[in-house]
Amino acid sequence: MRNSEIKQVTRHEEITHSITCNKCGNTHFPDDEGEYRYIHKIDIRFDGDYNNYRSKCWWIDLCDDCLIDMVKELKYAPDWFKGSRSEHAQAEFEKWVEDGCKPMSRFDSKEVSV
Ligand SMILES: [Zn+2]
Repeated sequence: MRNSEIKQVTRHEEITHSITCNKCGNTHFPDDEGEYRYIHKIDIRFDGDYNNYRSKCWWIDLCDDCLIDMVKELKYAPDWFKGSRSEHAQAEFEKWVEDGCKPMSRFDSKEVSV
């Protein structure tokens, strides 16, 4: 049995009012819907017993531009590049990098001939 009463309480919550990109330092603010559409949180956990950073956890916020700068240096396409894991994903990725990493719509899923 719970015995309760109504009380007015003051709570402290962490409210994010802006996010600064860890790479370039540009600060982003939420849009009208409270969303951060141009900055991405990367959550890295080092779990292996013999990992040099064992038990460390890093959170990195990157803006679109800095994320693309990092991704275009990858040798292999990220999983789900352009929304698919097709056999052509690597060729599409390499062409995208070669063409200057132009923005892409989620509806732009044309396959690249190889
Ligand atoms: Zn940035």
